[in-house]
Amino acid sequence: MSVSKFAKLGMTALRSNFTELSKPYKLTFSITYWCQSRCLTCSIWEIKPRGELTLDEIREFAKKNNHFKWIEITGGEPFMRGDILEIVRAFKENCKDLFLLTMPTNSLCNHEMEVGKIEEMLKMGIPMITITLSLDGYRELHDKIRGIPGNFDKVMDMARRLHALQERYKGLAFVFGYTMSKFNAGQLNKTVEEVQKELPWARFKDFHVNVGQVSDIYYSNTKLEFTAEREQLAKEIDEIVKNRPLELDSLPIFSKSLVESAFLRKLVTYIKEDKVPMKSRSLDASLFMDSYGNVYPSIMWGRRIGNIKESQYSLDPIWHNAEAEAVRQLIKEGKEPKAWTACEAYQTIVGNVFSLF
Ligand code: SF4
Repeated sequence: MSVSKFAKLGMTALRSNFTELSKPYKLTFSITYWCQSRCLTCSIWEIKPRGELTLDEIREFAKKNNHFKWIEITGGEPFMRGDILEIVRAFKENCKDLFLLTMPTNSLCNHEMEVGKIEEMLKMGIPMITITLSLDGYRELHDKIRGIPGNFDKVMDMARRLHALQERYKGLAFVFGYTMSKFNAGQLNKTVEEVQKELPWARFKDFHVNVGQVSDIYYSNTKLEFTAEREQLAKEIDEIVKNRPLELDSLPIFSKSLVESAFLRKLVTYIKEDKVPMKSRSLDASLFMDSYGNVYPSIMWGRRIGNIKESQYSLDPIWHNAEAEAVRQLIKEGKEPKAWTACEAYQTIVGNVFSLF
């Protein structure tokens, strides 16, 4: 592991507790809205996007914004972009302090191609790559929620391949991304058991739990009905917190286990109290950019502050415009929209550590 890049990410996160950052260190970038899934909790798959950023435009963006230490590449299904490897290479070559690349997949692309590309990314020398394999239930349930027969078995196959790849690349990690909704409420334990029948090495803590949330600019799911009953959700997540062993796998502020535990505890607060559990670090530590180059505070907050095509692919002219400052003011006043998703929560937790105690 590159200790210096890890330390730089950690120190920047620590600094964000005391001061506004001059540049964001995390980029969440939806490289495409194309998706071949048919999820009941998300309508991205119904969008037939046109005019998404080209590879040359993304290269220009990476060249002019080379300060990212953590990049989340998301979709749609990110591996539906044939040039995903070149996109990652553009960021790797320009962002000298890039430490962490995170990426979800629905496991529906050709696995040989997908795992081959992940291996190529590892060979580029990015110190940490974490893949989230979306998995919302046991075999029948997952296939029903995702609308694709055989999807559960495909996730198992991807997990086996990534597990084997880990033998050769210590910087590779993967988790199962479990999105809770009314369709799978109360079914996490059964799902874990069924996964463990297929993959005896899988552990409870390999499941990253989130709650399905609504976003017009991202999931396009404002018209869908999928939220489970609050009490039931809070009870189930409380159980997860109790079942997760706390491991001090690093210094406290950098510990994945502690941050994940804080994420889950705050998720319970979010569900029970129906409010943002912490002031977010949106447009300070992080931003969301969609596949057309529109820049937003987060995937959950559709207040567009600009488009990189209008600023010659540089974030600088957008970062301090009137819209961006208005968003920051709303955050200060505690008036941001209610949301608590992994895309925003981690940098919010590590940027507010003193309010955790
Ligand atoms: S949740 Fe993911 S896999 Fe499902 S439709 Fe949305 S982007 Fe596609």
